[in-house]
Amino acid sequence: MKTLLAITLPILLLILYFVVPEQKNNPEKAPQPPREEAEKPGMPSPETLVSLAPDPAAAIPGEPARIIIRGVASLSDIESLTFDDKPVPVFSDESGMAALVGIDFHKKPGSYPLVLTLDDSRIFKENLEVKPRVVATAEFDIPEQLGGNTPKAEHELTATLSTDSSVLDSVTAKVNPEQLWSGPFRLPLGGDPMVTDTYGYSRKTGSVSLSHLGTDFRAAEGTPVHAINSGEVAYTGTLRNFGKTVIIDHGLGIMTMYMHLSEIGVEAGDNVGKGDPVAKSGNTGYSLGPHLHLSVRIGGFSIDPMKFLELMGPK
Ligand SMILES: [Zn+2]
Repeated sequence: MKTLLAITLPILLLILYFVVPEQKNNPEKAPQPPREEAEKPGMPSPETLVSLAPDPAAAIPGEPARIIIRGVASLSDIESLTFDDKPVPVFSDESGMAALVGIDFHKKPGSYPLVLTLDDSRIFKENLEVKPRVVATAEFDIPEQLGGNTPKAEHELTATLSTDSSVLDSVTAKVNPEQLWSGPFRLPLGGDPMVTDTYGYSRKTGSVSLSHLGTDFRAAEGTPVHAINSGEVAYTGTLRNFGKTVIIDHGLGIMTMYMHLSEIGVEAGDNVGKGDPVAKSGNTGYSLGPHLHLSVRIGGFSIDPMKFLELMGPK
């Protein structure tokens, strides 16, 4: 019996601006003045200042954080942005210049560095605070189609899940340097689909605990499934536990995964537009009834699709 769990976690909407310029090759040069002083005559103009703003100001494992970059004239002025020493692609959209960091569900709480390096060698640092995540647990049965609640089925589940996961990991580890999406991301189903299982709780199946790293939507078998934005189909196939699966690469490390499908209507390498039908929902793999499972990965990490849509969906 599935249990509906809603995990309500506070989101800090406070956007903080920090300006911490450092001169890479000239440590004696005086730091840049704060923004207010910059507008005085004879001082550097505000355009010469850069701010990095984590939004929300604190992140939670399993959630995306949007990094807002202000004061940089063009993407070509940026040499690199890193979070915790790993590169993060920067893009430009209607809200300005930004980057998305996917916080690993298993990331330890703490303060992690964001470092922006411009091509004129200026370096700007900011810390992104990662707070602890509260993880709820729910009992979950192994479906009859995978052997039911038996030790044998449990053993097979553990063994095959790592094989399935390595397929997904190898596909989503690639970062396409081109932005393939455009405009806001949308939901994968038409109308106003009901969320039946939220992201991030631990499903306890016998002695095995599995984290549910996606969002489940109610969908009768055969419901059209739409690409939530434009991109290129990176994978189609059937996995024992995830069932029939489609993965779409939206570029810059953002990928979406549609699982437990009944039919797949695209092939790897196909270009798809936002809203294009790519599959029909179903009940294949580790599934206790017809539904659509959506996962969103950023930089290879599965993050909460609904939090992703709050940041990247229609405003
Ligand atoms: Zn699911």
